[in-house]
Amino acid sequence: MNEVENIFQYANPILNHIHSPMMTLDHEGNIISWNTYCENVFGYSTDEVLGKFPPIFNDEQDKVEEQFTTILRSHKELTLNNFTLLTKDSEMLQMSLFAKALTIRDERIIMVRFLNAFSSEESAVAELSCLRSGLEESFMVLSLDHEGLINFANPLYLKYSKWTPKRILGKTLWQMFPQTDVGTEQVNEIWNVIHSGKIWQGEVEKMTKDGTSYWVELIAIPVTTSGKTPDYYLVLAKDITEKKLLQQRLEKIAYVDQETGLMNRYRLEQIVNEMIDQKQHFTFVYLSIDKFYSLKELYNEEMESILLQEFTNRMKMYFQDSVMARITINDFAVLTPLGEWFIQGFLAYLKQHPIYIDGMALPLTICGGISKYPEDQQTFNHLLKASHAIIDKIHTEGGSTIASLSNDDHKALSKRAMIEKRLMIALDQKDLKVLYQPQLNLESNKIEAVEALVRWEDSELGIIPPDVLIPIAEETGLINDIGTFMLEKSCEQAVAWKNSGHTIRVSINSSVREFRDKNMVKLIREVLERTNCPASLLQIEITEKFALEAEAESSIITQMKQLQADGIRFVLDDFGTGYASFRYMQLLPLEEFKIDQTFISTLTYQKKTQKLIHGMIQFGHSLNMRVVAEGVENKEQLELLSEYGCNAAQGYHIGRPSEVATIEPLF
Ligand code: C2E
Ligand code: MG
Ligand code: MG
Repeated sequence: MNEVENIFQYANPILNHIHSPMMTLDHEGNIISWNTYCENVFGYSTDEVLGKFPPIFNDEQDKVEEQFTTILRSHKELTLNNFTLLTKDSEMLQMSLFAKALTIRDERIIMVRFLNAFSSEESAVAELSCLRSGLEESFMVLSLDHEGLINFANPLYLKYSKWTPKRILGKTLWQMFPQTDVGTEQVNEIWNVIHSGKIWQGEVEKMTKDGTSYWVELIAIPVTTSGKTPDYYLVLAKDITEKKLLQQRLEKIAYVDQETGLMNRYRLEQIVNEMIDQKQHFTFVYLSIDKFYSLKELYNEEMESILLQEFTNRMKMYFQDSVMARITINDFAVLTPLGEWFIQGFLAYLKQHPIYIDGMALPLTICGGISKYPEDQQTFNHLLKASHAIIDKIHTEGGSTIASLSNDDHKALSKRAMIEKRLMIALDQKDLKVLYQPQLNLESNKIEAVEALVRWEDSELGIIPPDVLIPIAEETGLINDIGTFMLEKSCEQAVAWKNSGHTIRVSINSSVREFRDKNMVKLIREVLERTNCPASLLQIEITEKFALEAEAESSIITQMKQLQADGIRFVLDDFGTGYASFRYMQLLPLEEFKIDQTFISTLTYQKKTQKLIHGMIQFGHSLNMRVVAEGVENKEQLELLSEYGCNAAQGYHIGRPSEVATIEPLF
């Protein structure tokens, strides 16, 4: 051991007073001193490292040696930030290294000090304190003791709340909130949550010392250091007053009808839902000003606006203390605890208090529907639907009354709602079924086609006939799913029959709504391709109603023509029941029509019907169309139709809509 090494051996106890790891190296880079902090932090004892190059540099040894050589030759200091060092246990430590060369007794030595060299526990504490100061800069911070008394508030909190440090200490969290029922309830809730050891988070309104309200996003955290119950609570809050005010302004715009000052439909829906949640009974009154009769007298928007305003005033006068909303341009709703006879009295009240415009009393025609929650309907949407049903009914009966629906009507509506709900599930589970009804070619006397008819048997509701199912599916948009399902099954079936040697065309029913989808052609082509079904085996039946609507929509006609060009045949269903417009016969690519079963049922005993049907068949042939008779229930009907030259017949006499296994023997 040379003299210098000796000195440092003795100097070690002194170096140990420096509160960070420190080592001294000789001019070759070997350790001559290694303080206790080095031992603790890096895990090597002094004996293990003395006289050796520091093992903590790992792969970086060459680089470090080079740096040390440089500083040995100069007076410069060396700082290496965020340098990775390895402990004896191969743990990585990020530290800064600070080195300087000195000359002692003619020998150059290097003193190296490591900074930020915390043990892991210390570093966690340091991180936390950094975090805390970061939090305190951006959040209002309150600390509550285990009883909920304030024992700390940071400057930001004091600034917002306008409390002084002296006065706030010992106050309760309750005193920081508005002294109202809502405010107290809010703190009670927060306190209950954090007191049970959980975190509470949300937006709350708070109150400054001088009573000004401000809004904060608040997080209240229980801190438990030992035992089960929290020792203290930290409440962090961020000011969101501006955001809240903006939101309130937007809500006002979003929830208030600007023209009448009444709330709009969305706000009403929220209120109704809240009342339903609280099981609060109420009567839902829907009032509709008949636009045609009441507004036709009005020449401009200004007058219409006066009318709406005046109507609103009368509503407010009559239905005092009730919730009122404007639902559409000329429809309003009132939520009221008042009885039916009183509500109906509103019409008489309007007569006694007419609305004058330009000195002329306006003849108002009002229809109204009364539905009760929970007796009649149980959701906002169903209350609205029931109201529409009542208004429709009143219109067909001449209008100008306020009425309610019978129990049976409400039951029917509820059943409809139930069907809607169940249908969603059914389609998910593909709970639908296809039945096929045969069509007999009257020339060849062979089954040449079948009509695919949808069947839905619900486990709860039983069999729902298509007459009920299809209108609901059309309204809810589920018709597209039904259509696709029927299309796929029918194509698969047509291919299966073709493969077993039977060329049978399958006819599916289509709703105009499906053809409003611009991708209908693409969808059908995809299914044909996927199922490997020739287009010539597919027929699409459309109703007269469909035909009328399609007539006005060129995109539907275009799609139909594209499909016809592919080889698909279009058939007009229920011929004779709709509107006697033959224009669509020219416009649409129709190749066949089906005489509706209502004509066939009186065929055998009414001369007039016989003439009519004979005429229809001749009419079809004159347009080069095939004619099929529907609802053929007996032999006599079949023979007459054959005699008139009808091309094909469908009906119970030939076969009922049935499963594949039942129908196949008929081929
Ligand atoms: P549609 O297309 O005119 O179908 C013929 C209806 O008459 C079928 O009623 C069938 O069961 C019934 N029928 C057949 N032969 C006779 C008979 O000899 N006597 C009597 N009294 N009735 C007979 P279904 O299956 O109840 O269908 C009713 C309507 O529902 C169909 O009338 C069709 O417009 C529609 N529909 C059925 N399936 C679908 C579908 O998948 N999609 C669409 N959009 N509509 C469908
Ligand atoms: Mg049909
Ligand atoms: Mg039909």
